[in-house]
Amino acid sequence: MNSDVLVVGSANADLVVAVDRRPGGGETVLGGDTVLSPGGKGANTAVAAGRLGADVALLGAVGDDPYGRLLLDSLRAAGVDTGLVRTSDRPTGIAYITVTPDGENAILVSPGANSSLEPADVEAVFDGVEVMVVSLEVPLPTVEHAVARAAENGVKVLLNLSPAAKLSPETLGRIDVLLVNEHEAAWLTGPGADFRKLLDLGPRAAVVTLGAAGAVVVEAGGSTEVASPKVDAVDTTGAGDAFAGALAASLADGADLVTAAKRAVRVAAFSVTRPGAQPSYPTAADLGE
Ligand code: ATP
Repeated sequence: MNSDVLVVGSANADLVVAVDRRPGGGETVLGGDTVLSPGGKGANTAVAAGRLGADVALLGAVGDDPYGRLLLDSLRAAGVDTGLVRTSDRPTGIAYITVTPDGENAILVSPGANSSLEPADVEAVFDGVEVMVVSLEVPLPTVEHAVARAAENGVKVLLNLSPAAKLSPETLGRIDVLLVNEHEAAWLTGPGADFRKLLDLGPRAAVVTLGAAGAVVVEAGGSTEVASPKVDAVDTTGAGDAFAGALAASLADGADLVTAAKRAVRVAAFSVTRPGAQPSYPTAADLGE
């Protein structure tokens, strides 16, 4: 018997350095102290769902190194089942993040162990799973295989198209809920296009996140705007992953998509009021539920 929510995706150590400006080629610039925190879209999504009390597992890969152990500890502390996190002979993935005083991030990802996640890793893992969430920091053939196998097994497929990548029409047609931010939506359908055009690509429904404005749920019957509570945003890192984890947790509980998106907006809005990605994610008690 597996978990209700299966997340297939990356786990990275985030190394964050504040800099006045970024170095050019051949140049050395001194920055602030390095802040190390657990991250990666898959691990973040699983931790967000776990904090909310969902029965959730991550399928991923880390290296046999201190960063891998940091990630496993963070997942377990959030109640995430790590039985499907494989230890690879590659090093744990690392995101090198510089932040300038204007708050802008520049991120270089070294995928490491995440690159070793193969289609064969996503085979007999769907028994008892209600919802699979998959994001795109792992190899595309693995993502496409996971979607095909989940659909065959009657598992609801939530695909977070982040970072944006070109999926086959077959894969798009197997998606129950396509989750994108505004930039990814524009990349898929062209700038300024009606979000309803996303359904022409094949998914049964889509959710577009709109930052401080909340989200839009697009279904065959029409679109529903979901407003965000007004909050003082401190750090939006990992807000999209918080949204994905919360959406999956509610869908696995049997909520309809609009109800799930309303909760996901509250969870993601809470997460931007605290620094970091995983450390910022709320429990149900934090939300006053
Ligand atoms: P990120 O890359 O920062 O993880 P994203 O670009 O994938 O995020 P966004 O649309 O920016 O996605 O944000 C996801 C969700 O987070 C939004 O739908 C909203 O619920 C919440 N959110 C983000 N920024 C804010 C904000 N300033 N105030 C309130 N909620 C926010």
